[in-house]
Amino acid sequence: MKYIGGHVSAAGGVANAPIRAHEIGATGFALFTKNQRQWTAKPLTEEDIIGFKQACKAHNYPIEAVMPHDSYLINLGHPEKAGLKKSKDAFLDELQRCEQLGIQKLNFHPGSHLKKISEKECIKVIADSINEALDQTSFVKAVIENTAGQGTNMGYRFEHLAEMIERVDQKERVGVCIDTAHAFAAGYDVSTEDGFEDTFHQFEQIVGFNKLMGMHLNDSKKALGSKVDRHESLGDGLIGWTPFKMIMKDSRFDGIPLILETPNMERWAEEIEQLRTWAGDTIHPTISEKENISK
Ligand SMILES: [Zn+2]
Ligand SMILES: [Zn+2]
Repeated sequence: MKYIGGHVSAAGGVANAPIRAHEIGATGFALFTKNQRQWTAKPLTEEDIIGFKQACKAHNYPIEAVMPHDSYLINLGHPEKAGLKKSKDAFLDELQRCEQLGIQKLNFHPGSHLKKISEKECIKVIADSINEALDQTSFVKAVIENTAGQGTNMGYRFEHLAEMIERVDQKERVGVCIDTAHAFAAGYDVSTEDGFEDTFHQFEQIVGFNKLMGMHLNDSKKALGSKVDRHESLGDGLIGWTPFKMIMKDSRFDGIPLILETPNMERWAEEIEQLRTWAGDTIHPTISEKENISK
């Protein structure tokens, strides 16, 4: 089973996210559990938590099909003490919110050195931040996303991800999410069959599929190796449909959220339908619902 969906809005409360995912025919989804542009948020209420769990159940989303993304403000590799503390506090809050909701994975961009420390040092700071956060929580997993390498962002090489994992103590609670647009912009040519095979061969050697906990499915507006992070609708960018079809037909990508972050949300239902068809998962939710009603 592949959990295919989009990063849906949680406006009006987290319980709305599974409802919105269901509306576009998604079998998995991502969300923000708080406003991603603010440092702090009101705690989740009992009503939010129960509502979220009930909505997931009502729309057939097992918890492994759900992978929230943390706030873009957080920099776990921050070179300065105050900035790092603020980020670590916010990250812990995000992990705790996941645990309250019963969610097993939180996806995040690793961090940036801001030209004040070396890449090596930054990776160490990131891993230390992850260790501290995992020590203060009980089950949620930290899912590090590869980046395009824009600005001073770390995580644009599989080796960076491997080194972060290597430095994390609770190995069973750390994994990665691979974003196709980020990989492409970072120089991994996933646009051709050979390039895709080579990229994921390298991934297997350096990180390992046992660490793959999610994928972000995005085409790219920007060129291979450009280090610029600009998502495009599937098939409309410089990547094209090839890798998305390959992912859908490859069992190494089973059992994890496969999430669209493409810019035109109007297209998501159509993109999801195409992906589900390739995955051999053609039962449209509205049809299976009708079947359930007639039983
Ligand atoms: Zn992403
Ligand atoms: Zn991106």
